[in-house]
Order: sequence, then C-alpha cells, then structure tokens
Amino acid sequence: EIRVRFAPSPTGVLHIGGVRTALYNYLFAKKHGGKFILRIEDTDQTRFVEGAEQYIKDALAWCGIQIDEGTDQGGDYAPYKQSERKELYKKYAQQMLDEGTAYYAFDTAEELDKMREALKAAKANSLNYNSITRNTMKNSLTLSEEEVAQRLASGEPYVIRIKVPAKEDVRLNDMIRGWVNVHTSTMDDKVLMKSDGMPTYHLANVVDDYLMKITHVIRGEEWLPSAPLHVLLYRYLGWENSMPQFAHLPLLLKPDGNGKLSKRDAAKHGFPIFPMEWKATAEDAALKGFKEEGYLNTAFVNFLALLGWNPGTENEIFSLDELIEAFTIERVSKAGAKFDIDKAIWFNQQYIRNLAPSDLATMLLEQAQTASIKCDEQKALAIAELLQERIDFIPELISKGKYFFEAPSEYVEKVVRKKWDNTAKQVFEALAANMNGKNWNAEDFQNGLEQAVTALDTKVGMVMQILRVAITGEAGGPDLMRVMEVLGTNEVADRIKKATN
Ligand code: GLU
Repeated sequence: EIRVRFAPSPTGVLHIGGVRTALYNYLFAKKHGGKFILRIEDTDQTRFVEGAEQYIKDALAWCGIQIDEGTDQGGDYAPYKQSERKELYKKYAQQMLDEGTAYYAFDTAEELDKMREALKAAKANSLNYNSITRNTMKNSLTLSEEEVAQRLASGEPYVIRIKVPAKEDVRLNDMIRGWVNVHTSTMDDKVLMKSDGMPTYHLANVVDDYLMKITHVIRGEEWLPSAPLHVLLYRYLGWENSMPQFAHLPLLLKPDGNGKLSKRDAAKHGFPIFPMEWKATAEDAALKGFKEEGYLNTAFVNFLALLGWNPGTENEIFSLDELIEAFTIERVSKAGAKFDIDKAIWFNQQYIRNLAPSDLATMLLEQAQTASIKCDEQKALAIAELLQERIDFIPELISKGKYFFEAPSEYVEKVVRKKWDNTAKQVFEALAANMNGKNWNAEDFQNGLEQAVTALDTKVGMVMQILRVAITGEAGGPDLMRVMEVLGTNEVADRIKKATN
C-alpha cells in the first residue's frame, strides 16, 4: 500500500509551496489507492506558533484534501504529533549511541562559534562539524570514557550527533532528480537530539517515516540537501530495506522566472486562506488569502497542480478527481515553476464561467448578506446570469454589479459630456412617461425605447450608451434591457428622472 505524508511544522501560515507539496502527496496517494497522512512536526518549540496547526488543517480542507490518518482522524500509527512521540526518538538515539553510529557532544555555543570562526579564517571550504573537525572538539569520540561518564553524571548539557563516515559517497535515486551523489566529507555530523531532550527534524522525520510505513517522501527541493543524511540514518538504524522513495519538488520561482519566489513576493498571493486571527499587524491586515480574494477552491487547486506538473496534453482544466486520474510523478518537472498570478486569475474566470448560475447566485447571496445588501433569490439569479462572463472574482458580483443594488451617485463623465443632448433627454422622458405604472420586461423596454426614438426621429444606437450611463453610471456592461428588467420599471423611471434633472 502506498502511504505518503504531509509533515508541516506549525511555525506560521501555510505558504503556497507547502500547499502544493500537500496537494502532490494527496494526488499521488489517491491515484494509487493509498493513504494520505498528516503529521505535525512540532519539535522545534522555539518556533511554535499558536493556531498554526488549525490553520494548516483549514487550508487543506478548503482545497478538498482529505486526510486519512492524522491528529484528528487517528490511525494505526498514532500519535501523529511529534511532541507526543518524544520517548520513541530517545530510544533510537540510544540505539545509535550503543552501536557507535552516534555520539555525545558537549561543545558550548561559544565553542562552536569559535570553531566556525577558525575555519573561516583558515578559508576552509567546509564549515562543518564533521570527521575532520570533530577531533578537535569536545565529544565522546575525543574525551575518555570516564570523562564522558562524569560530564553526563554531572548534568552537563549535551547533544547527540550522528557520526558521518569520513570518505564515502552517499547515493540516492530521487524520483524527480534521478541519482544524487553526495560525498560525506561535505556533510555535517548533524545533531540528532538537542540539549532540551527534543529530537531534531532529521531524527524525528526518519524515525516517523519508518514507523508510519511511509513509502514515498514527496517534499520541497529545499530538503534535497538533507536527503543523504536521511539515507545514512536509515542505514544506521538498520532500516535501509524499508527506506521510502524520495521525490523532491521543484522550486516556485518569481513570475519573471528570475530567482526563487521570496517571502515578500508570496506575501501578496502566498496563502490559500487567511484567517482573521492572524491579522495581528496592519501589514498582515493588508494581506489576503486566495479564498478571501474570491478565488474558487476548485480553480485554485487546478492552478496549483499545474505549478510544476503538466499532464502532457493541451488540456489545462482539471477537477480534483481528474487531477488524481492524470497525476504522475514522472511529469513533475525538474525545473522551477514560475508563479504567475495572471494564470490563477484565468483559471478563476474559467471556473466561474462553468458554474451553474444557481450556484453563482448562492455565492452572490452570501456576499450580499455579508455586505448587508438586500437581495432576493430571483434577483440574485438574474444578476448571476448577467455577470457570469464578466467577473474574475466572486466579490465582483457585488462590486461590479453595484448598480443592481443602488442608483448611481456619479456618471461616467466622458460619455455624459459627449452624448448627453436634448434629444436624448427627450427620448428618456418619453420612455419614462410610457413605462409609468407598468411592469415591463426586457422585451417591453426594448419596444418602449424603439417607440420613443421613432417618435423623436432618432435611432436606438444614438441614445443607448447614454441611457446605460443614466441607469448604471457606467459606460459598459451586460444587456441593458435585462439590467432594466432586474431593476424594475419604478426604479428605472426614478433613475431616468434623477439623470435628466
Ligand atoms: N517538517 C518539515 C517541513 O516543515 C517536513 C519536511 C519533510 O517533508 O521531510 O517542511
């Protein structure tokens, strides 16, 4: 059985790159009838952020990603939160100590700084705590057994480090990158257990992937440099035969392709959703998530799936089920993916156009309610039909359709100046007189207008745009006759009166 995990650290908002990692894991698992596991990696207590875990779950839920095993769902390998698994990591660190593949180190922060300085001064290209430098440091490979025992007994702070071999190539076959070769002389004796008794990411991640029977590790490219270390850990713990396969996903690049998408670039369009409680500062308050900006979750997921993966066909529109069907790791690109927000907007347009008008109407009613605007179902449906092709985002039903809810308070100046003449005024007055007390539909408005222009010896084309301005305040928009039908005869007559006064 295929088992994948999304393993975020609850250190802040889930950023777009993280959501993509979750999505690819999900698509891969579901394609193969496997399981998607959510594991919370919260061993770094200094970076813990209250609410981040819930945010991650809300964001995944909005994307339609369903969790098979996790902190809320439970599962055969619970608990799924690393801070609740502390004892396990200790056990494996002890095993490595006993077998001589890990060791105690007692260096203080100042001593480590000093080492780095010295190495820098010597222009050594390696700034590592490794097989070369460890001999000059304070650890159980250089101190006598008695001294180590004494330091431990006296409660001196220590960390446990992996003992990376001196001269060896570590190889791994990444599903996306192919063979990756790293020489151990460039690797650090990374810390496995910190002085606070917590494991580091590396140890906890490998132990949990093994115990949770993870078959494929699909994660961001920033973790590729850690992968050889993880391979060593699997070997030292005797788990090499059940090592998962690795797939490191390409970076997200700036829209122009020049460099990595930075935190600042992403700040604008970096989050799937943006919960209120995070809007702590004015800066935060200016940010919006895709959800708040009015993206449909279906459009967002479709956009995200194509950031680094392509189906190999011309088709770009995929529902989540279709993505599951089409997704393969082989078609994930090695090259970075340009983050192009215009493409996201395009997807949103497409999805809005494909909605059933009644669904769009329901969304309009929600928006109207939040904005305390009165609107009934029938009117909502009519507006939805008229604006469906004209909006990029859901909130534009209200902002672009403002004139459906209130008379314009100003008119597009240019049109007014050019076309507002006595004839137009007379036509509108005739029209208003004609509709007085009646209940016209679009066709009646059309006939009424034609009658009025004929009587005044002019043409519909001469007055159409100025009539639109009088009714909506704007120079363009959907079929004006239908707009007037939605507004109703009384309202249209009022607006004409206001505009001709
Ligand atoms: N906790 C790591 C993160 O925050 C997980 C990396 C991995 O998937 O191995 O990204």
